[in-house]
Amino acid sequence: MPTRLEHFIGGRPMPPTEGQYFESTNPATLEVLYEAARGTQADVELAIEAASKAFDGPDWSNLTPTRRGHLLRRLADLVGEHGDELARLETEDNGKLLREMKGQLRTLPEYLYYYAGLADKVEGSQIPGMDPAILNYTVREPLGVVGAITPWNSPLTLTVSKLAPALAAGNTLVIKPSEYTSRTIVRLAELASEAGFPDGVVNVVTGFGREAGAALVEDRRIAKISFTGSTATGRAIASSAAARFIGCTLELGGKSPNIVFEDADVASASLGVVAGIFAAAGQTCIAGSRVFAHRSVYDELVERVAERAQRIVIGDPLEDTTELGPLAFGDQLNKVESYVRLGVDEGATVSYGGQRPETDLPGYFYSPTVLTDVDNHMRVVREEIFGPVAAIMPFDTEEEVLRLANDTEYGLAAGVWTKSLARAHRMARHLEAGTVWVNTYRAMSPMSPRQGFKSSGVGIEHGLESMHEYTRLKSVWINTSEEPVADPFIMRN
Ligand code: NAD
Repeated sequence: MPTRLEHFIGGRPMPPTEGQYFESTNPATLEVLYEAARGTQADVELAIEAASKAFDGPDWSNLTPTRRGHLLRRLADLVGEHGDELARLETEDNGKLLREMKGQLRTLPEYLYYYAGLADKVEGSQIPGMDPAILNYTVREPLGVVGAITPWNSPLTLTVSKLAPALAAGNTLVIKPSEYTSRTIVRLAELASEAGFPDGVVNVVTGFGREAGAALVEDRRIAKISFTGSTATGRAIASSAAARFIGCTLELGGKSPNIVFEDADVASASLGVVAGIFAAAGQTCIAGSRVFAHRSVYDELVERVAERAQRIVIGDPLEDTTELGPLAFGDQLNKVESYVRLGVDEGATVSYGGQRPETDLPGYFYSPTVLTDVDNHMRVVREEIFGPVAAIMPFDTEEEVLRLANDTEYGLAAGVWTKSLARAHRMARHLEAGTVWVNTYRAMSPMSPRQGFKSSGVGIEHGLESMHEYTRLKSVWINTSEEPVADPFIMRN
C-alpha cells in the first residue's frame, strides 16, 4: 500500500474532500511512490479560505516586514538542513539527477535569504506635487492571496522563485504543484509551518491542472496568478485572468538558440552545447535546443557533441556516476520519440541517438540525440520538444544567424560562443531573448531578473523587480492645510 500525501491547508495535512487519490510513479524504476490527494474545486476553496483568513489575520497582517524576513531566513535554514532529503524526494519523483538536485538544494536557501533581505526594502515614495499643501505619497501593498501553479521539471526551485518574493511582500499563497511532482512542495509547506509562518499563509492543493489548477485560476478571491509551465496552458490562464483583470506572471516555454561562431573555443563551446541540451535530459525551459554553428566549425562541433553524447552515462539518477536520467513520465517519452520520428520524416538525419538506450532499469530513458540536416522551417526545430534532442544547423554570417535565431515564437534564452567582445555585445543587443549568455549557458541567480520575451512569458521572476510583481501601488493624497476647502463652483482666476 503506497503512502498517502494529503493537501496542506491551514497549517496541517488535509485529506481530499471527495476522498480521491492519484498515483505518483518513479520514472526510473516505474515503482509507485505514493498516492496524492486529488484536489477538486472544494479543496481549492478550502485552501483559498485559509489563505484569505491568514491574509487578514493579525498574526500575518501585523507582522513587520523585517519579521517576515526573519521567517524566510528560518525557512532557508530548514531547507538547507533538509537539503539531502528534499533532493532525494525530487529525484525519485521526476528522475532528475541526484547530484544535480544536491547542487540545486545548496543554492535554494540563497533564494530565500535574498528575498528575506528584500522584505523590508519594498518602499513607496513621496511624490513632488503641484500644490504645496498636498502631501502625496505611494505605498506598496501586498496583493492578497496569490495562486502559484508550477511544473514538474524543477518543482522546488520554480516554486521557491514565487513563494519567496510573494511572502516577502506580505501575501499568502495557494500552491498547485504539478501532478507529477507533488511531494517536495508539500514538504516545503510543512517546513514553512515549522519555520513559524502562521497557519494558512502557505497552502498546497495537489491534483490535476484541469481540476485543481483551473479551479484556482477561476476563483475570484485570487489576486494574482504566478504560473510556470507550457505556453499553451499559460495562454489559457492569461485569458481567464484577463476576464477578471487580475495580474499574472507567466514563465513559459522556449526553443532557445545556442550559437557557436568561428572564433569560439570550439571544445569549450561543444561542452556548453552539451550542457545546454542534455542536462536534465533536455527537460528545461532554457534548453539550447537550436544549435547554430558557423559553417567553418560545423563539422567539428557536430563531431564533438556527438562524441560527448556517446560517452554520456545513462542510468539510475540516484547514482553519482550517472549523467543522464530518465524522462519524467511516459507521455513525455512518447512525445520525444514522436518528435524525432517527425524530424526524420521531415528530412533530418539522426547523427547520434534517436532511440531508447539499453539500461538496467525499466524507466522512461531516451538517448541523447543529435539531429543534423535540419532547418529552421521544420517542426522539430520550431516546436518545444522538452527532451534531449539537439538540432544542429550551419550558418555563414552574423546577420544570417541573428535572423534565424530570432525567427521563433519564443524568446526565453540564447547562448553565444565567441572570443570577440564587440560581437558579444552586438549579439546581446539584437537577440530577442530575455536572457543572453556569452561563453556560458544555464547560469542563474535569484538576484538576476529574468523574463521571457514573445510567447515565452509575461512579467519578471527573480531580482528586485520580481518583488514589485507581488505588490500593488497605492497613491495617497493628504491635504495638510487647515484652510476650509474652497467651494468647487466658485471660479477663481
Ligand atoms: P503544463 O503547462 O502542462 O503544467 C504546468 C502546471 O500547470 C501544472 O501544475 C499543471 O497541473 C497546471 N495546469 C495544466 N493545465 C492547467 C489549467 N488548464 N489551468 C490551471 N493549471 C493547469 O507544463 P509542464 O509540462 O508541467 O511543464 C513544462 C513546461 O514548462 C515547458 O513548456 C517548459 O518550457 C515550461 N517551463 C518554463 C519555465 C520558465 O521559467 N520559463 C521553467 C520551467 C518550465
